[in-house]
Amino acid sequence: MMSNCADNLFFIYLTFDIDQDFNLNSFDYYNRTAAKFDSFNTGFRTIIDTLSGKPFSVFIRSDNQINQLYGGYDYLVRSSDLIKQIKDNNGELDWHIHLYEKKGDEWIPISQKKLVDAFLNDLKYVKEISEINWRIVRIGECVMTDELMRAIDQSGILIDSTAIALRKRGDDEKCFDWAITNNDFFYPSVSDYRTKGTPHLKVMEVPMSTILMKAPYDKEPLLRYFNLAFKTDILFHNFSSYVEKHNSLVTITHPFEVISKGNHGLVAYDIKTFHSNIEEMVKSVEACGKTPVFKKMSDLLNNNKRTRK
Ligand SMILES: [Zn+2]
Repeated sequence: MMSNCADNLFFIYLTFDIDQDFNLNSFDYYNRTAAKFDSFNTGFRTIIDTLSGKPFSVFIRSDNQINQLYGGYDYLVRSSDLIKQIKDNNGELDWHIHLYEKKGDEWIPISQKKLVDAFLNDLKYVKEISEINWRIVRIGECVMTDELMRAIDQSGILIDSTAIALRKRGDDEKCFDWAITNNDFFYPSVSDYRTKGTPHLKVMEVPMSTILMKAPYDKEPLLRYFNLAFKTDILFHNFSSYVEKHNSLVTITHPFEVISKGNHGLVAYDIKTFHSNIEEMVKSVEACGKTPVFKKMSDLLNNNKRTRK
């Protein structure tokens, strides 16, 4: 039975990270150095059309690597047509920063001790780009430290959405720790960015939601972020139990996963699947007796102001 009572609202935040195109067929698939954005520039309009006016949040890259490669922090907002189309269709532009440094010919994740300085340096330039709301940020590759979270807070940023709930990695490819962070939004503790506590910072942490999924190549199900580019049966296998326990969902999708072509066990590389996944999401939420409500990241700020002294 459907109900309109406030407790049954289920808030969905559609987010897109404008990252470089990763070439699935390349031997070095995860190549940080080849930063091309063709699927954003040529294909993002198709994604916008698919959303049919639903609110969405775009985290757009603006950082030192973009500046070095393309001669300006504003490279990705120079396509003013596309930027206008995002804003005219109920989208917003928030800030996505990858903290890399150049070593020889390669771009690699910056060392931990340089994180804060690099972040603050980029922030200075991003503040001059009127199209980007720098007060809402997501750091690339889920990178975070206590020092960086405090710097984010002190610089006046109101929402950070870097967390990937309940995940931790420390391998050759990625290094982040959100192991004790659950799917709820929270104000990070001053002494541990991963969790709430007292005293806490003023910035609100909005984790990317994770749900157990089993790809064909997995031995065991793995907590993965909810990516609307994934194959439908894998994506929704455990979705209903998530909806029953939570009242919000933060999705994350990259343009190349929808626009480019590829053959992969988990990612569908298909705009039709992306579209039908949105419809499936709405149906599944309703089937759980909740009402789906689509929101932008900045909608959280209006609530935030009311609760702050
Ligand atoms: Zn990214």
